[in-house]
Parts: sequence; C-alpha cells; structure tokens
Amino acid sequence: APVEPVLADPLPRRRTVGVEVGGVEVGGPAPVVVQSMTNTDTADVDATVAQVAQLAKAGSEIVRITVDRNESAAAVPRIRDRLLRLGVDVPLVGDFHYIGHKLLADHPDCAAALAKYRINPGNVGFKDKKDRQFVEIVEMAIRHDKPVRIGVNWGSLDQELLTRLMDENSRLAQPLGARAVMREAIIQSALLSAALAEETGLARERIILSAKVSNVQDLIAVYRDLSRRTDHALHLGLTEAGMGSKGIVASSAALGILLQEGIGDTIRVSLTPEPGGDRTKEVQVAQEILQTMGFRQFIPIVAACPGCGRTTSTLFQELAETIQNDIRVHMPEWRERYPGVEALSVAVMGCIVNGPGESKHADIGISLPGTAEVPSAPVYMDGEKVATLRGANIAQEFHQMVLAYIDR
Ligand code: SF4
Repeated sequence: APVEPVLADPLPRRRTVGVEVGGVEVGGPAPVVVQSMTNTDTADVDATVAQVAQLAKAGSEIVRITVDRNESAAAVPRIRDRLLRLGVDVPLVGDFHYIGHKLLADHPDCAAALAKYRINPGNVGFKDKKDRQFVEIVEMAIRHDKPVRIGVNWGSLDQELLTRLMDENSRLAQPLGARAVMREAIIQSALLSAALAEETGLARERIILSAKVSNVQDLIAVYRDLSRRTDHALHLGLTEAGMGSKGIVASSAALGILLQEGIGDTIRVSLTPEPGGDRTKEVQVAQEILQTMGFRQFIPIVAACPGCGRTTSTLFQELAETIQNDIRVHMPEWRERYPGVEALSVAVMGCIVNGPGESKHADIGISLPGTAEVPSAPVYMDGEKVATLRGANIAQEFHQMVLAYIDR
C-alpha cells in the first residue's frame, strides 16, 4: 500500500504584499522580521533612547514606542536624532490610541521621524468620530509617505462592530458560539479598516495588519482565517502572553504553529518583564523561535543534553552555559569579523550515550565524561574526532577550540 506522506516541512511562506518600514522590508519575499516595544515613558528621552538602543543591539529590527500625549510626541524627533548620533538606525513605530490624529497633526516633526504609525481601530475614536479620525491618521501617513499597521486587539475591540455581528449571529438558524463571533469581529475590524485605508488612498504596500488575542487557540484560528482572506502583510503576536515561562511557552506554541503554516511576516513576543527585568528577553525569545524552527539564523546554537543519573559531574552544564554566554557577549563583534558565524552549531554533551553522536552532528562538539573521575572528553569537528581532552582544564581547552574553530 502507498505510504501516507508525512508533513515534515513548513508550508511555503504565504506571499503577502511587502511593506517597507524605514528601510526594513516586512512581507513579500523578506524573511520574518523581529520587532519589540519599549516600556519607557517616551517623554523621557534619555530612558527611551537607552532602551531602544538596547533592543536594537539585541536584534530588534523595528522598535515601537508609545506616543500618548503632546510631551511624548514632542520627544520623538529628539529620540530619533539621538539614536542616529549613536549610530542606531532602527525604524521607530509610533503606537497611537484615542488622540493619534491630533498628535500627528500637531507634531509634524514626530510624524516625519516615525517610520510607521500603529492605529488601533477599536479605540481610534468613538461613534461618528471613529471613521473620520481613522481617516485623518491615514491621510497623515499618505502625506508623510509612511506605512501603517492596523493593529486590532481583543482587549480593545470595536464594540459597535461586535454588537452588530452578535445581533446578526443571533438571527441565524444555527448561531455560532460567542468566541467564534468575537474572532470574526476581530478579523472584520482589521479587514474593514484596511479597506477604508485603501479607499482613503493609502497603497496596499503601506498596510500591515495584526489581530492579537491572548489565547493560543484563538490566535491560531484568527490568523489562519485572516491569512485566507487577505494578502496584506501580517504582524503576529500573542498579546498579554504573560510572565516567565508561561509567556514564552504560549508565544512559542502560537507563533510556531502559524509560522509552520507559512503565516506571519513580522513577530513580536509580548512578555511581561520581571520587575527591573531585562526588556531584551522578548527579542531573544523571538529570535530563538525563528532560529529553532529553521527560518532564520541569529546566533550559534549550543545543543546540550539535560543530564541524567549517569552524570555525577556538573562540568558539562557549566561548560554549556559558559559557551552560550560567551557567544552572546561576543556576537556583535563576531558578526562583523566572521560572516556566517550565526550558522555555527556547538554540542556540549554529558556522557558517551548520546554524546559522540550528537557531537558529530554539530560543527564542533564535546562529549564530556559523565563522572568527574573519568577525566577524558573526545572533541569532534565537522563530524570527525580531532582530540581527546583530559585533566582539570577540559572546559578552558574546549572553549579555546571553539574560538579557534570560529577564527579559522
Ligand atoms: Fe544522560 Fe548521557 Fe544522555 Fe546526557 S547524553 S542525558 S548524560 S545519557
């Protein structure tokens, strides 16, 4: 009998209309772009410049900043100038809610300094003012030749649209469940707003859509449907993903499935940082999602086994951590000195069970002794055993071998 084909590869990337955001291509044939957002008060120029620079250095290719009042709008051109003087040319996106039309009109320097405007159709204005204020922002984008992201969010959904769809649904012979109607309202909000932006004169090449929810299954359903109904470039993100491992796992599960289906042109991982925590974590997670799925390469991957009852020494864990940290620290310099270093794979394994095999699959790998008493560790490069390290300095010697491998 014929063997059933196994779906082992990602589906081809769904072709969308490419949008240029301050020199970064989103959609079309471009690779999936990593972006993030500051959590500083934008009116605080020093703090915002520092955080944007930090996010850009970590690998954020686009950074969004809140523009919520006159003081923050007035700060935007100063932030952009300061960043350029620091050599940080990352596109800045203004996040507008409620009074974006006024802020953009009253602060033309802000409108010019931003690379994109994010509009939330759910809170761009109320009742009869809603469409007019949306159109005013779109007209501003046309005047300044900027793209927009029409960013619908489950938490601030257009209530009139939702109510209308709920009413229509209740008259159906077989009404849909409330969640299905909510999902449809999110999608329609994005599509109707995009149609209004185009009617106003904004080109398709200037429109990105997002439709964020905080539930993994809903997010997958919404984006699958949205991607079938439009070829606009799509910004993916699980909103309010949460803290710590919960946020990382939920975002990875949702974005991973969609990316595997060829859906998504740019991603943001929305993690709640620990108090005083590092904002760049969300950039790291976004990069790791893309890299572990094989879509992009940002930094050499260190494969390490989890360890088990066979390991009475913690040497391999310490070595794996040292190598991983070392790579992170040196990556900005290595990227310039060693083009292609992102593709390097390193294996640090705990014992002979899987150690030699996994090490041979990596560019450079070491199979450490499971116990401290057996101080002998074969090292493999490009699948061949090249050395056996012994004694107390195994970690330092392997570290040097990794550096030499990169430098050769
Ligand atoms: Fe355990 Fe060895 Fe497997 Fe590591 S490689 S998990 S130490 S059996």
